[in-house]
Amino acid sequence: MLFIQLFDTTSSTYTYILGCNVSQDAILIDPVFEQHTRDTALLRELGLKVKYTVDTHVHADHVTGSWLMKETEGAKIALSGNYGAEGIDIELSDGVVLTFGNCSITARSTPGHTNGCFTFVTSDQTMAFTGDCLLIRGTGRTDFQSGDVHSMWGSIREKIFSLPDECLLYPGHDYMGRTVSTVTEEKSSTPESGAMHGKKISPVT
Ligand code: FE
Repeated sequence: MLFIQLFDTTSSTYTYILGCNVSQDAILIDPVFEQHTRDTALLRELGLKVKYTVDTHVHADHVTGSWLMKETEGAKIALSGNYGAEGIDIELSDGVVLTFGNCSITARSTPGHTNGCFTFVTSDQTMAFTGDCLLIRGTGRTDFQSGDVHSMWGSIREKIFSLPDECLLYPGHDYMGRTVSTVTEEKSSTPESGAMHGKKISPVT
């Protein structure tokens, strides 16, 4: 599977491209509106056809590029229905599988930062895209956008820490230049008690 990690410096947001090396079908995770030209140029350069755009959540800190990607590239939009957004092609629910060529990702419902957050896991469980649920050495904030710290802890423990220890974790943002973590790393740095409030919450939207 082809894998590319892209960064928007204005919002410190990561966008991810996953592509099937056989069919050239691709999935775009968390596209940023202002980076549409960059992303489409790269897709064309690599000969990839974007089949789906998926958003880990609706973002307060940047506008998603999914609708523009649908308009220009014909990509289908996969998103939680909790946000009431119009034009969604696939309403995400826990366990939904999105296939692109010989590859697929599974959506895991991970509310807490918002009530419609999802984490996406590759079929071999070697990579997970956690959005603003679990960041590197922190989590997304839970004090607005229908956030809930107890849901967040449940999501992290049951849906992310249940992945294999060596699974690579790719966050929605990072403000310190870090690009990837692992389940083992984050387990060792996250309080076991669930007492995350005030301790692990990062100023991330
Ligand atoms: Fe966010």
